[in-house]
Amino acid sequence: EDILRLERVSKVYKPNIRALDDITFSVAKGEFIFITGPSGSGKSTLLNLIFRAEKPTSGEIFFEGRPLSSFPRKEIPFLRRKIGFVFQDFKLLENHTVFENVAISLEIQDIPEGEIRYRVLKILKRLGLAGKENQLVKQLSGGEKQRVALARAVINRPRLLLADEPTGNLDARRTEEVMEIFEDLNAEGTTIILATHDHSLFVDSHRRVLLLDEGRLLNP
Ligand code: ADP
Ligand code: ADP
Repeated sequence: EDILRLERVSKVYKPNIRALDDITFSVAKGEFIFITGPSGSGKSTLLNLIFRAEKPTSGEIFFEGRPLSSFPRKEIPFLRRKIGFVFQDFKLLENHTVFENVAISLEIQDIPEGEIRYRVLKILKRLGLAGKENQLVKQLSGGEKQRVALARAVINRPRLLLADEPTGNLDARRTEEVMEIFEDLNAEGTTIILATHDHSLFVDSHRRVLLLDEGRLLNP
C-alpha cells in the first residue's frame, strides 16, 4: 500500500526555472528511501511540495490516497502532524529552550501539560539530549541542534518523515548516530524520505535511491 504518490509533478519558478520536471513515483508504507542529486537538482523543492509548503505548478501529490490539493488551508496543520520535516537549516527558535522547541506542536493541541512533559523528555532522552531541555537553542552545538530538529519532527509520531540533508552539519560519528535513529524510527513503522548528496549514507543500505538531475528523475 502506498503512503505517497506523485503523478507528473512539475514545479516552475519564475521566470522560467524548471525545479522539478514531470516527476512520477510512489512510496510504500514503511519504506525508507533516499533522494539524491547534485546541488540545485530539486531535492528540497520535492520535499517542500510533499509537506505542502509549496504547490506544484502541475501534477498531483497523493498522501494516504488523498490529493494534497484537496486539503483546505485549515486542515494543513492536521496534515503536518502526520508528516514530520527535518529542515536543512533546522528552523528552530534560537532564543527559546530545547523543551519549548520540541513541545511547540503539542502545546497547540489539547494535550495535558503532564503528558507533553513526559513525551518531550522521553524523545530528548532517546536522542541523547537528556538534561538539555532548559538550554537555549542558540547555546547548542550544530550536532545538538540537528537532534533537536529531529526531536521536533517526530514528537507527533508522524507516519511520514521528510529529512533534508539531516547529516549535513555532523561529523562521521554523529552522522552514524543520527542514521541509526532513522533506522530505528523506520523499524517502528515510520516511512522515511531522506534527501542527501552524501552517497556514503546509502551505498551499503540496500534502500531505494531516487536520482534527481536538473529536476528530472533519472530512475523512476
Ligand atoms: P536542491 O535541494 O537539490 O539543492 P532545490 O530544490 O533547492 O535543489 O532547487 C532546485 C532549483 O530550483 C534550483 O535551480 C534553485 O535555484 C531553484 N529554486 C528553488 N527554490 C526557488 C525559489 N523559491 N525561487 C526560485 N527558484 C528556486
Ligand atoms: P509509546 O511506546 O508509543 O511511546 P508509551 O507507553 O510511552 O507509548 O505512551 C503511550 C501514550 O501514553 C503516549 O501518548 C504517552 O505520552 C502517554 N503516557 C505514557 N505514560 C505517561 C505518563 N506517565 N504521563 C502522561 N502520559 C503518559
